[in-house]
Amino acid sequence: MPTQSTRIQRAAPAKASRLFCMHCPRTVNTHFDPGEGVAFDIGCYHDARASVLCRLCSDKNKTCTPACTGMLGNAFDLAAILKWQQDIIESDIWNGDVKRTILKETHDLAIAFDCAESAHAREHGLKGTRKAVRSNHHLGVPFEVHGYMASGLFGHSIGF
Ligand SMILES: [Zn+2]
Ligand SMILES: [Zn+2]
Repeated sequence: MPTQSTRIQRAAPAKASRLFCMHCPRTVNTHFDPGEGVAFDIGCYHDARASVLCRLCSDKNKTCTPACTGMLGNAFDLAAILKWQQDIIESDIWNGDVKRTILKETHDLAIAFDCAESAHAREHGLKGTRKAVRSNHHLGVPFEVHGYMASGLFGHSIGF
């Protein structure tokens, strides 16, 4: 009788297009060049066969950091805009100037999302060491629920 696995074995890597790990857009933000004419792609992939972490974090020995729960709506909006941007870049209807402008604006938007997510996390004491996060409890921020909810959402909803 075969042994049972508690982890889902994926036949193909799943792309976390909306509930992505923040390390991935930050890495793309650092290296992205709108002049190359290639669509901005967060590229956060999970391959449950190799690791529960995303590929980037698995390769770099990092821990996945999902966007703060309070920023998930913004993350979904960013994902929708990235899809729109990708459709335009891959279309033959628009010329190079239009595409470059959209790539530049998309890059600026992704950087702004990173800054806003980081500011939100700092404001609510959601980042840093576990001890530092815990010390912010007096602010009334449900940080533990926040973190676990984000992890739960992230862990169970990849691929959507
Ligand atoms: Zn990732
Ligand atoms: Zn990750």
